[in-house]
Amino acid sequence: MKIIMLGAPGAGKGTQAKQIAAKYEIPHISTGDIFRANIKNGTELGKKAKEYMDQGMLVPDELTCDLVMDRIAQDDCERGFVLDGFPRTIPQAEALTNALTKIGQSMDYAIDVDVPDENIVNRMSGRRACLNCGATYHIVFNPTKAEGVCDACGNETVLRDDDKPETVQKRLSVYHDQTQPLIDYYKEQNILKSVDGTKPMDEVFSDIVAILGE
Ligand code: ADP
Ligand code: ADP
Ligand code: ZN
Repeated sequence: MKIIMLGAPGAGKGTQAKQIAAKYEIPHISTGDIFRANIKNGTELGKKAKEYMDQGMLVPDELTCDLVMDRIAQDDCERGFVLDGFPRTIPQAEALTNALTKIGQSMDYAIDVDVPDENIVNRMSGRRACLNCGATYHIVFNPTKAEGVCDACGNETVLRDDDKPETVQKRLSVYHDQTQPLIDYYKEQNILKSVDGTKPMDEVFSDIVAILGE
């Protein structure tokens, strides 16, 4: 099963993608996580990506597409994968379509997690991330057991630099300009499904399972 998660920053793509990956036993591929791991390890890619991420801008397609194509060509992706945060532009979507077409494949579902802009700023200011293991929490909707400590690995959880309100506004406008057009792109490919992302997390997940099948 090959799945794309669509939705605004903070819509809950990552939260849902992790559960999908666990239930259907497929890898969760988050471009944001890959960039953050590169930043943490001080790689050249990380240095370049950080300049864009800190400003709420997209990392250029040239730095993003090959990375994802290499990842989905790995053995563990044979039974499928869930893409979280990719594609984010029409050229990225076309690169993905072309790469899969070459090997006689195509994506199965593009799931749009729909959340209006008004809800997003609250979501983001309450998000806490563990930069060690990638786990994500929310101070109200999904708190850690001990404040500021990751349940999964014990490292500290932080407010991401790009989750500060000024940057969130910028990311939302980038989303509307560059990423939202993908909804129509996947509608035309007949694989678009929408879920109401304002519901509680477990209800959103049930709605997704109803689409993907038990
Ligand atoms: P969120 O889950 O809140 O939308 P991500 O972790 O997916 O955030 O992405 C964080 C940042 O990483 C983005 O704002 C962008 O700068 C960069 N990024 C992630 N994925 C892509 C992509 N497919 N294309 C370009 N930039 C990306
Ligand atoms: P994205 O990957 O789309 O940027 P996340 O999955 O990181 O979004 O979720 C953004 C924030 O909102 C996190 O703090 C997460 O815990 C919280 N969150 C996710 N889904 C829901 C939901 N259905 N209701 C309330 N909060 C949510
Ligand atoms: Zn952790």
